Amino acid sequence: MNHKTIKVGTRGSNLAVTQTSWVIETLKNRFPDTEIEMKIIVTKGDEIQDIPLDKIGDKGLFTAAIEAQLLNGDIDFAVHSMKDLPSEFQKGLKLSKIPKREDPRDVLVLKDGILSFDALPHGAKIGTGSKRRLFQLLEHRPDIVPVPIRGNVETRIKKIVTEGLDGVILAAAGIHRLGLGHLITEYLPIEMMLPSPAQGALGLQFKEGNEAIELMLSAIANDQDDVCVRAERSFLKHTNGGCHVPIGAYATEHGGQLELSAVFGDEEGKVLYRVKQKGTKEFPEALGKSVAKEMMNHMNDDREEKGLVSLVGAGPGDPKLITVKGMERLKACDVVVYDRLSSPLLLDLVPQHAKRIYVGKAAANHAMPQEEINQLLVDLALKYKNVVRLKGGDPYVFGRGGEEVLKLKEHQIPFEVVPGITSPIAGLSYAGIPITHRGIVTSFHVFTGQFKDGESHIDYDAVSRLDGTLVFLMSIANFKNISKALIDAGKSPLTPAAIVSSGTTQRQKVMTSTLGQVHEFEDIPSPAFFAVGEVIGLREELSWFEKLPLFSKQILVTRATKQSSTLTEKLVALGAEVAALPMIEIKRVQLDDTQLQVFSNLASYSHIWFTSENAVQIFFETLQSHGKDSRALSDKKILAIGPATAKALMAYGIKADHIPSQYTQEGIIALMSTEVSNKSHILLPVAKDAREELEHYFEKSCQVTRVNLYHTVMPEVHVKGKPLEGLDFITFTSASTVNHFHEMLVKNGWHLAKNTKLLSIGPITTETLVKHGYDNIITAQSHTIDGMITCLQGVKDEAL
Ligand code: SAH
Repeated sequence: MNHKTIKVGTRGSNLAVTQTSWVIETLKNRFPDTEIEMKIIVTKGDEIQDIPLDKIGDKGLFTAAIEAQLLNGDIDFAVHSMKDLPSEFQKGLKLSKIPKREDPRDVLVLKDGILSFDALPHGAKIGTGSKRRLFQLLEHRPDIVPVPIRGNVETRIKKIVTEGLDGVILAAAGIHRLGLGHLITEYLPIEMMLPSPAQGALGLQFKEGNEAIELMLSAIANDQDDVCVRAERSFLKHTNGGCHVPIGAYATEHGGQLELSAVFGDEEGKVLYRVKQKGTKEFPEALGKSVAKEMMNHMNDDREEKGLVSLVGAGPGDPKLITVKGMERLKACDVVVYDRLSSPLLLDLVPQHAKRIYVGKAAANHAMPQEEINQLLVDLALKYKNVVRLKGGDPYVFGRGGEEVLKLKEHQIPFEVVPGITSPIAGLSYAGIPITHRGIVTSFHVFTGQFKDGESHIDYDAVSRLDGTLVFLMSIANFKNISKALIDAGKSPLTPAAIVSSGTTQRQKVMTSTLGQVHEFEDIPSPAFFAVGEVIGLREELSWFEKLPLFSKQILVTRATKQSSTLTEKLVALGAEVAALPMIEIKRVQLDDTQLQVFSNLASYSHIWFTSENAVQIFFETLQSHGKDSRALSDKKILAIGPATAKALMAYGIKADHIPSQYTQEGIIALMSTEVSNKSHILLPVAKDAREELEHYFEKSCQVTRVNLYHTVMPEVHVKGKPLEGLDFITFTSASTVNHFHEMLVKNGWHLAKNTKLLSIGPITTETLVKHGYDNIITAQSHTIDGMITCLQGVKDEAL
């Protein structure tokens, strides 16, 4: 290093100075003999303090003055908050690889006494000068009143008191760097509040050609953060984003795979798109560009033409009863407008970037008036390409779908109608009642049982002469009056009658009686319909849905979200009502050099034993990031602990050579102790927290290398209400789910109901439950998901 004092330029704010001091300290640790001096430079952004940033609209606001000094040699390099740096800066200047990044998230600092985001009162006043923060916040809480504020971190926090705000949103990085972390009320999750591109990163800028400085700065670089920030900045550059539009981006890198999530919107916040793509760490700029391209396509598509509005029938409740066409429309939509009757699970089909608008009745609020919904659809069609209006049952059966399309027609907006299975048809089928039956009835009739101003519109004389099946929708309030009127008009009081409530769902309840005895029907949960006709008599013989082995059983699944689907699907198919409360999350570990060597030196292993699906997936992804594939394992004996792991291997073209008959580590020991010799070298790709039995046992007879690929952590739990109430079963598929579940219970002071049974996949999981003091445990005999299902059915037959 030369002996001249190096000059570092920075803005003069407290934060900028702290950041720069950190860089100087870090450099001095590496180069103790070098003199480094800070030079404070006042920028235009520092001079104008009282105008919100988006109103100024000058991209180089905080950097131009500093860049000028870099170019004329007054300073050797500059430290910027990377997010202040425009995506293109002055010619002749360069950015070094970035040093370790601070926490990229945004945080809420709330007024004393408000303990969380969820606890913010209706119409809370939140200070922020950023459209990115504002519009993302409004997605979750449309009632929030934004207050534009500016100034440095300390000033903004003070404004909570001086301007009577309920809180402010700020970048975690700034607060941490200033040592004010204790003031943070809540960290906003990245998915909810995508940060500004490069948030938390420092930009070290210098003059092109200054190799000495470049070399020195690269010594404190962090490669992983560098590729992520490059992807984020490339996105920013290719969207031409500035302060006046909401724009956010965040990238992560694991085992060579780069994933970039981004959000982008228009100035007024009418549209806010989210896009996510994967790429490789070698080409971060390409990933940023590709995400920007997808985003721009969305925006342009919208501006050019009017969108298509699809009125889609959601079916009666069971989410699987949607049509294939309806499902396709949901999967491809940019916005969905839905109400109470649709199954919430259908919303899982909607792409992540799409907007979801609820117009039904929530607990205390009223539904949006029909006129407003009609207008909303018109407005959305002018902004989005694919608009789905999702309606319970069939859109035209008492669904006011006709009014919606008339309005669209009036505005020349293209539309289509995708019919749905209507509730009278589906509800009766699931109740075991054929709506027509040869030799019994020759027609069916569907009425609304809702009367205008209390007056019935039905011609009971005519209706009572019909021999068809009669179904009255929306009739909970009126079915007694309807029965009486039918009997008065001549229908026999002995005619069978039924109520079907929440038909086709796990809450389905069917009551049967006769027209003369309908006063027996009580406590009817909505939605429900009233049916009259001889076909109801067939229910006794033809009922099937309620006879499913787990019908109406409430089961909580605690597996990691990604893995819970098989179990959930199987339980639902057997009639259970399933709730998910994921108690583990799989996190990859950052592999160190010795661990990575395993992948470059695979030749030395004779066996690879996989003890979980996760291990298979992460092992092969890491293998691929080393430029290899399954062929690298052609000479190895492969073991899978059980069928699910074997299936995961098949996805990579590998058929396991060994599967023990007991799917446990002990099962592996029993099977393999005679298969290995002192020449064998076993590779064990496992979870960091996996047991050590296998190594301990086999190390006695051969060589064993364990590589920890991932670990299981406790996810953040967001539960509303009382998640454990009324549960029949809770399923546990590993010891770590048990540990985390127990931790959650203790933390929240929750208790299990007496009748709740705990279903465990195998002996180790059971042991962990016992260790924490739980009883009421059932252990699956075969330690697989199917084993658990078989076990549940057995318990149900015997004891429930
Ligand atoms: N378009 C819908 C009906 C809307 S009117 C359809 O085609 O099904 C709303 C009425 O439908 C409710 O009052 C109730 O009578 C009936 N309904 C809807 N879903 C139901 C369900 N799962 N079980 C029983 N009745 C249902």
